[in-house]
Amino acid sequence: MDRSLLRSPEDYLQPTESRRLESGAFGMVRDDGHRFHEGLDIRPAGRTKSGEPTDLVFSAMEGVVAYVNPRLNGAYGRYVVMLHPRAEVPVYTLYAHLASLQPGLKAGQTLAAGKVLGVMGHSSTSETAIPKERAHLHFEVGLMLSERFQAWYDADADNRGVPNHHGVFNGQNLIGFDPTLLLARSSADVRALLRDQPVALAITLRPKRTPDFLTRYPALLKGGDSATAAGWYVEFSWQGMPIGWTALPAGDPRLRPGPWSLYGVKDQFRPQLIQRRMLTANGKAAGDTLIRQVEILTANSR
Ligand SMILES: [Zn+2]
Repeated sequence: MDRSLLRSPEDYLQPTESRRLESGAFGMVRDDGHRFHEGLDIRPAGRTKSGEPTDLVFSAMEGVVAYVNPRLNGAYGRYVVMLHPRAEVPVYTLYAHLASLQPGLKAGQTLAAGKVLGVMGHSSTSETAIPKERAHLHFEVGLMLSERFQAWYDADADNRGVPNHHGVFNGQNLIGFDPTLLLARSSADVRALLRDQPVALAITLRPKRTPDFLTRYPALLKGGDSATAAGWYVEFSWQGMPIGWTALPAGDPRLRPGPWSLYGVKDQFRPQLIQRRMLTANGKAAGDTLIRQVEILTANSR
C-alpha cells in the first residue's frame, strides 16, 4: 500500500464478519469489547480473478528473521516473526495468515526494511478459519515476556495435552502494543512509544531471579539499584505490557509478603482492565491475564 494514500482506517483495515471497522484495529475490539485483538488486520490491495490476495508482505524494519512457521498448526497460520535488535528497544514484529512464505526464508537471516517475507493470505486452522473474502495480514509489534516460556507452559494445567508448536514465539509469550503508533510515523523511537503508553496498574514483585524480560529490555528500567534489588515495582499498560520497572531495596514498604501483589490501579482504566481480565470482575483483585503475565515473566525462577 502507498502510505500517502492512507488517510483513515477504512483505507487499510479488514474488519471481522461483524463488518465493524474497529474489529480490525488493536484493542478490545472483538465480541462486543470482551476479546483482545493484539495487532492490526490489514486488507489486501489486489486480488487474483479467483479472489486470492496478490499483495506481498514486507519486513517493517531492518532486523533478523527469528521464526518461520510454514505449517497450519495454530490460529496465526503460516507466520513469520522478526526481531529488531537495532531499535531503541529490540521489539519483535509478527506477520500472520500468509498464503506462502518467500522461498529460502529462514531464521537467522538479517533483512533490511522492505524485504519480501511472503504473500498475504488467510491461512489459519479449521477452528479459526478465515474465508478468502476476509483475507488479511495480521501485523503485530511488541515484546517477548520470557525466554523460559516453555517452563511456564509445561507447568500450567490449562495447557495439558495441547502441545506448544512455536516455542518462545507462541502468541501467549508475546505482548503487543498498537502498531498504528509506529505506522503513523516514518521514523519512530520505539522506547519513547513504549514509555508513552499510559500506566494502568502496578504490582510489586519479589522473584527468585531477575526476570530475563528486564535483562533483554533494560531501557524499561526507570530507577533504583538493580544490582541490590530485593524486589520490583512494575507498572503495566492496560493490555498487560510491563512498561516500567523500578528496583526496590530490602525493607521497602511497597514490598509485601508473598511472591507478588497488586499494588495500585488507576481508576480511569478499571473498566478496560476488567474486560481484559487484568482485574477480576469486581475490579479489586488480579485477574487471569495479569496472573498469567506475572507467571510467564517469572518463568526463569521455576
Ligand atoms: Zn488479527
